Amino acid sequence: GEAQCGKIKEAIGLLAFEGEPISWNRYGSGHINDTFRLICKTGEGEKHYIIQRINHEVFKDPVSLMRNIAGVTSFLRERIQAQGGDPARETLNIVKAKNGKDYCQDSDGNYWRGYLFIDGATTYDKVRQPEDFYRSGKAFGRFKRLLAEYPADELAETIPNFHNTPVRMETFKAAVKADSCGRAHLVEAEIKFALDREKEAAIAMDMLKEGRLPLCVTHNDTKLNNIMIDDVTGEALCVIDLDTIMPGLSIFDFGDSIRFGANTAEEDEPDVSKVSLSLPLFETYTRGYLEGCKGSLTTEEKMMLPMGAKLMTFECGVRFLTDFLQGDTYFHTSRENHNLDRARTQFALVADMEKKWEEMAEIVRESKK
Ligand code: ATP
Ligand code: MG
Ligand code: MG
Repeated sequence: GEAQCGKIKEAIGLLAFEGEPISWNRYGSGHINDTFRLICKTGEGEKHYIIQRINHEVFKDPVSLMRNIAGVTSFLRERIQAQGGDPARETLNIVKAKNGKDYCQDSDGNYWRGYLFIDGATTYDKVRQPEDFYRSGKAFGRFKRLLAEYPADELAETIPNFHNTPVRMETFKAAVKADSCGRAHLVEAEIKFALDREKEAAIAMDMLKEGRLPLCVTHNDTKLNNIMIDDVTGEALCVIDLDTIMPGLSIFDFGDSIRFGANTAEEDEPDVSKVSLSLPLFETYTRGYLEGCKGSLTTEEKMMLPMGAKLMTFECGVRFLTDFLQGDTYFHTSRENHNLDRARTQFALVADMEKKWEEMAEIVRESKK
């Protein structure tokens, strides 16, 4: 909030920006952190930076979070350099604190970080045309490829068990059993839908344990406004917003993108008859993603992409249903049955994927990369 940002001046003084800071303004449309654009004057002209207050209510361990980001961005910088790219624009670059750390702390205890500002590129909040969805797929596929050899097991889990579907199922079953709000009788069909798929829901984590799917760096917030699109070339330039990078499975990032991007209805649409998987959008994202990955997926990872989409959708539905049963304490709700409507859209999307399973598999098989 505003009060916490009163210390921005102090934070600016602690970070090693080049030149004389002359002005700063709130910037972008992020919901989690407080983001500002900073202008500094140097001998050669203006230099632009991003300065962000990390939301430590959401991210309880900003130090591990910044260690994750520092590790991944320095690895990306080397890879991009080696491939003849421009590391100043194709990855985030941390501006360190004057004391050498990757962040600083103001006298109120807030954590701040600086990044080089990526000029000549834009983030878009909404998909304007299918091409945007393609670009997003390509950016996240490329991100996955560049980090394929990163030691993902060294990353801190900023949100433990984030996509551990079996753990989510245990929480769900406990919520059904406790039935603390007396709502279970209202959602018998939804509870059955979830329980019927419990065994299948463990498949990805089982394959990870068996070594059939590799542990990867996952982004976990793969929405459109977390990629920057070059204003001149129109190509996806850079993946940003790395707060939620964690060890995970590539099919999670892919699957979550499909879950929210290829649904023909809004996530909280009360009329579930409007919910379906758009096969053209599924095809578009898959094409972009596989082009970005350029063969860095294993055969099993590729084959499991449709399952990733289904698992992420199912898991999300289970989480909404759990929150409904527990009295709407986690997700923000703005109307009665909001979480129930959300759970129903996710389950309707799962059901539609089950109907379109062969087509989804075919699209993945047919893609050239
Ligand atoms: P979200 O709500 O997606 O979690 P957030 O609060 O975590 O967002 P960011 O996504 O990191 O914040 O940043 C907010 C916006 O600021 C971005 O969407 C982008 O427009 C802009 N931005 C962030 N980093 C940079 C950068 N290095 N260069 C230029 N613009 C940036
Ligand atoms: Mg963001
Ligand atoms: Mg974010």
